[in-house]
Amino acid sequence: MCIPLDSRFRGNDKKTMSLNIQQLNIKSALQSLRKQEFSCVDLIKAVYQRIREYDGQVHAFLTLTEETAVAQAKEVDRKIKHGETLRALEGIPVAVKDVICTAGVRTTAASKILENYIPTHDATVVAKLKAAGAIIVGKVNCDEFAHGASTENSAYGPSHNPYDLTRSPGGSSGGSSAALAAGFCLAALGTDTGGSTRQPAGWCNLYGLRPTYGRISRHGIISMTSSTDTPGIFTKTAEDMALLLEILAGQDSKHDATSLPAKVDDYSAKINTSLQGLKIGLPKEFFEDVSHPASREVVDAAIADLEKLGAIVVPVSLPHTKYGVPVYYIITPAEVSSNLGRFDGIRYGFSSPEAMNLLEVYTKSRGQGFGPEAKRRIMLGTYALSSGYYDAYYKKAQKVRTLIADEVKQVLNEVDILATPVSPHPAIKLGEKADDPLAMYLEDIFMSSAAMAGIPALSVPAGFVDGLPVGLQLMGRQLDEARLLSVAQAYEKEHNWINKYPQL
Ligand code: GLN
Repeated sequence: MCIPLDSRFRGNDKKTMSLNIQQLNIKSALQSLRKQEFSCVDLIKAVYQRIREYDGQVHAFLTLTEETAVAQAKEVDRKIKHGETLRALEGIPVAVKDVICTAGVRTTAASKILENYIPTHDATVVAKLKAAGAIIVGKVNCDEFAHGASTENSAYGPSHNPYDLTRSPGGSSGGSSAALAAGFCLAALGTDTGGSTRQPAGWCNLYGLRPTYGRISRHGIISMTSSTDTPGIFTKTAEDMALLLEILAGQDSKHDATSLPAKVDDYSAKINTSLQGLKIGLPKEFFEDVSHPASREVVDAAIADLEKLGAIVVPVSLPHTKYGVPVYYIITPAEVSSNLGRFDGIRYGFSSPEAMNLLEVYTKSRGQGFGPEAKRRIMLGTYALSSGYYDAYYKKAQKVRTLIADEVKQVLNEVDILATPVSPHPAIKLGEKADDPLAMYLEDIFMSSAAMAGIPALSVPAGFVDGLPVGLQLMGRQLDEARLLSVAQAYEKEHNWINKYPQL
């Protein structure tokens, strides 16, 4: 089911038609706004014009915030006209994943149980975007509670990949990747618990960053797996990523006890560091499972290009990689079963009108409110945590998690970064794996190591196979996002794949 877009969005505004949002990025839009090449109202109107025209096919948005966006744009234009000081993201349209709370704006987590939930507070990432002058365009689709890898677990229907509408834009932050690739915004926020930013970025020709765990506050993001959840950032250039990370990173001592006290790097200044002598580890286990030879060739070619830029490629081994997915799918459901306990039909969210007594308030509200994947994870997690199974599953998984994390960190003492494919193949067809949860879980095969280790990882657009984007994943040491961005930037200077826009 699609939530229909507001009928006010019909009509044609000829003036803004000429503004090609797909050709813009944050940096170029900021320059043009400042030089008054177009107004912020023109920009925002062009965004909604495009959404009206194409989101019927893409289905990226669950909620639009046009009225406030246009009002904000007018204020930006006023400031520009009067020569007032502009903030770092003044007037930049951003889409926000619907698991991230926005004060006064419906936040559904793509679930029926939160269909009418309107938060009273902004997530820290949203507050920071607003404080920097960004304009929130709307809330974007995802898998329900971010459980999934294709957006097909959304209670509101899947999103479509702008490069091929019969395919998935990835997941769980597939509305974020689809919206940015389709030219509905200039950046998007997602989350990455076990790949949900990197994989959709890879499938949609975008940069997608999973920061170090704790680098960006999780406050106000509906929890999935609290021990691996991170906010995620989608951009069209490495420079835009550096800028957004600078704005969003930092300790949130008031609201997120797991946020790190480390100083925020000047990512934009460090982005042009040379790759001369940089040691790039290639973990062989990540290359053995690429089922799609043409994708492997794209990734190999990107790595060869990094070598030409002065990097030294070192073969390495991470033998515990094969346990990443099984361990993740014990720890994640365990934490999910606990985190989803707060949706009880009493405090907030959907409450079944059919309930006749207290027990039914729980069972009917949850039974009718949660979709099949959320229920599956609650059951798996409850089982893994139950007495008698706790030691055999949960505790064992935690031990193996430590082994995976130690091994990755150990190898990252020997090399500066790791380079791997993002996915074993390009975007899958919608429906291809929707009925096979295990096959869908295996989509995370190259994603779980960074999640288990809490290290930063970045998807970099690396080329195309049969018109479908292929991503290169870079993983780095804790808090070493700057290095990942400098590698991405050096590569982008040679190959600007982002200019290959989807034809809608
Ligand atoms: N695909 C993974 C899952 O379904 C990752 C989800 C995420 O990162 N939010 O759990």
